[in-house]
Amino acid sequence: MKILSISTRGNELKFYLFEMDDQSIIANGIISRIGLEDSSYSISFGSENITEHVEFRDYNDVANILFDKLVTLNIINSSIDINGIGFRVVHGGSKYVDSVFVNDKVIQDIGDLSDFAPSYNDSISLAMRSFRKIFPDIPMVAVFDTAFNQTISEENYLYPLPLDWYEKYGIRKYGFYGTSHKYVTKKVSEILGRNDFKLISCHLGNGGSVSAIENMKVIDTSMGFTPLSGIMMGTRSGDIDPSIIPYIMKKEGLNVGEVIDELNNNSGIYGLSQYSGDMLEILEECNKGNENAIRAKNKFVRSVADYIGKYYVLLGGVDVIAFTAGIGENSVQIRREICEKLACLGVKLDLDINNHIGEMIKISTDDSKIQVYVIPTKEELMVAMDTEKLIKNR
Ligand code: ADP
Repeated sequence: MKILSISTRGNELKFYLFEMDDQSIIANGIISRIGLEDSSYSISFGSENITEHVEFRDYNDVANILFDKLVTLNIINSSIDINGIGFRVVHGGSKYVDSVFVNDKVIQDIGDLSDFAPSYNDSISLAMRSFRKIFPDIPMVAVFDTAFNQTISEENYLYPLPLDWYEKYGIRKYGFYGTSHKYVTKKVSEILGRNDFKLISCHLGNGGSVSAIENMKVIDTSMGFTPLSGIMMGTRSGDIDPSIIPYIMKKEGLNVGEVIDELNNNSGIYGLSQYSGDMLEILEECNKGNENAIRAKNKFVRSVADYIGKYYVLLGGVDVIAFTAGIGENSVQIRREICEKLACLGVKLDLDINNHIGEMIKISTDDSKIQVYVIPTKEELMVAMDTEKLIKNR
């Protein structure tokens, strides 16, 4: 079975074409500047990498041209070869607790949630509408980043705010990166050979999310109403005192949108280091003794360890801590420093094994009270797997 997995952000669409029999990638690529001047696409398949400037006026062009290219490059014979399309949707509100087949109502609901996930929900709903119009016979599935978090109890998803804000406007914790945490949870259950475990899953990339999971279900997660809260991230602040917002508006003469923009794009590792939001660059600077970089790195490690401590208490103990995404999969140093802060919980890393990068591996010692794993995440594959599952169970 061949499944196309699609995600969008603003004017950009990423795609992966999977052969589900062995979960291999047949082709993947990116379409950039959709609806803008200088739009282009890049595609990789086998040993080929092609980049070309092509006019993509809208998502109708994207759907038509992408399939044309897949055929002319002999990746598929015709659109009939594609058994399903999975769309990664950032926000499904409270309504979508699992993946669903795409229909007009689903597309409408996703578009209506655009205020909650600007540049994500609007673009993916446009993409869905076009692909559905042009390829009505291909089954299509929406996979929600919020869905895996829908098992969080009211006690954990409600904010201590006037209750009618929740009732009238849906102000509550939704959490994000559910697709990644779901994949990690699935892999941990395969490794342990059981579903009854307590897991803290740490997705540490440019964005970051830590989730507490018990018996395959999310109990709590660090991101909230939007992806701005939780742990410190590449350019996002994570949790802060909201009173800072009006104070800095007054001091710097900024409007609320400008301050939120600062919190999203000029804060976190970038903000504190005054250098970069990219952990690899920060670690290089740390080695040169750059004090701001060291401060930012230390604060990041602290913020992740704090969430792990909080979730250890919430879960009443933990069987497995898993690290994933760019930093979690690749940074030997950050994993080590986080785990050093968890020594009081009985976490012990095998420092030699921790040197391995980019593979699924247990990095804790045999006598560690909590098993620590690196689990490379595959969100695009998870989208394709959910799509395949729904199609097969139809
Ligand atoms: P996203 O998908 O959210 O854009 P990624 O999961 O690709 O992010 O993670 C990007 C982050 O991972 C960047 O901060 C990058 O510097 C960091 N990263 C990648 N490789 C390494 C490495 N070897 N050491 C430390 N950080 C790394």
